[in-house]
Amino acid sequence: MSMPQIPKDLFMAAIEELVRLDQQWIPRNKDISLYIRPFVIATEPRLGVKIADEYLFCITCSPMGLYYPKPVQVKIETRFIRAAEGGVGYTKCGGNYGASFYPTQKAKDEGFDQIIWTDATTKKYLEEAGTMNIMAVINNKLVTPPLSNTILDGVTRDSILQIAKDLKIETEIRRIPYEELRSEMKNGNKVELFGVGTAAVISPISRISIEAEDYFPYIEKDAIMFQLKQQLEKIRKGNIPDTHKWNHFI
Ligand SMILES: *Cc1c(COP(=O)(O)O)cnc(C)c1O
Repeated sequence: MSMPQIPKDLFMAAIEELVRLDQQWIPRNKDISLYIRPFVIATEPRLGVKIADEYLFCITCSPMGLYYPKPVQVKIETRFIRAAEGGVGYTKCGGNYGASFYPTQKAKDEGFDQIIWTDATTKKYLEEAGTMNIMAVINNKLVTPPLSNTILDGVTRDSILQIAKDLKIETEIRRIPYEELRSEMKNGNKVELFGVGTAAVISPISRISIEAEDYFPYIEKDAIMFQLKQQLEKIRKGNIPDTHKWNHFI
């Protein structure tokens, strides 16, 4: 976007100050948190397609409940795309989300909660789950697509991969064709499918439509995804040692 970068020290000091000011708003209940959302927008009063000279750096925070309180129902999107090779899909810039509204609304009208994006070139491989990174458990292995310039480098993806290693769960970073999910589930094999992101942490997928056929990933209590989620929550709440030094105390 050619926007100026916010120096890390200023960024962290601003978040600390805001959280201190708003500490009464930090929820104590389980599954509820204070969501912190920093962002930058251009603010100068000018009309035109040009790099702006003036910006506003803002942080908002608000108590937030579960993002998706129930397992989600999704469809594999093979018509519209979220991000193309060489584009800005790896960034959290507004345009990426603007372009996702229409296809997502269409899916909602068809009874789905979200869409699973496929790659722009072949439309065969899984990319992301709405605004979350996508992961699957196939044959007891945690599988997720490799990062690229079409996939956002989510911190939750990173943490879940690390936790899987800590728990001695095998991980595999490779592209996942939706055809593979279909054939695994058609053969009656257990497949877990879920989105990962800061807001929802892990969002289980209970139904997936692949070329208008419904399949039902595994979402029982003993699923590996819940083990991973609980471990991350324990680290966040300070119930187990934060061995990777992920927490930032204020
Ligand atoms: C925010 C976001 C994610 C998740 O990123 P986190 O850093 O884990 O919150 C994944 N994909 C997209 C497209 C996103 O916007």
